[in-house]
Amino acid sequence: MMGGGDVDRLIQLLSRLPGLGPRSARRAALVLLRAPETRLLPLAQAMQAAAHSVRSCHVCGTLDSSDPCSICSDQTRDHGVICVVETVGDLWALERSRLHPGTYQVLGGVLSALSGTGPEDLNTASLMSRVASGEVREVILALGATVEGASTAHWLQDKLAALDVTVTRVGHGVPIGGALDVLDDGTLAAALSARRPAQ
Ligand SMILES: [Zn+2]
Repeated sequence: MMGGGDVDRLIQLLSRLPGLGPRSARRAALVLLRAPETRLLPLAQAMQAAAHSVRSCHVCGTLDSSDPCSICSDQTRDHGVICVVETVGDLWALERSRLHPGTYQVLGGVLSALSGTGPEDLNTASLMSRVASGEVREVILALGATVEGASTAHWLQDKLAALDVTVTRVGHGVPIGGALDVLDDGTLAAALSARRPAQ
């Protein structure tokens, strides 16, 4: 017991967050509890607001408080180019870098026999209908250089082959896919500019 049930529960919940073990969770809880007005309450309110309003965009699959999301509904973006990424974190990384002027498709994973992820688990239905609408010139596959990322890219290429669209893949050997957010902008830029036709 660190100070009553509520305090214990706060620490327990914080310790489940990535990067926070029990020790860091205790430190974070102390920081929050010592400044309820400026730290704890604003955080609690932001979390509650996010829980109520944030949804998956039905077009691209990213998380946003509006649906379609702010990217899909932005008419200044190039809706003729879709960058396919594995996770929302990958999308955020590309957005931070401001390297991609087009839109996105978040798959929500890659094909993996190990984790039991099959084609039906990936968010591809809206990608196919967006491409079939004829407005898309290029689909950039920004998936990982892992075996799963490569086989998912091949599988998507096959699915898209019947449609009139150019399919490209980001530069080979770039360690992306669920890990874009740890790359610096230079590496991201190299990956995007080195994209080539998918074979
Ligand atoms: Zn969207």
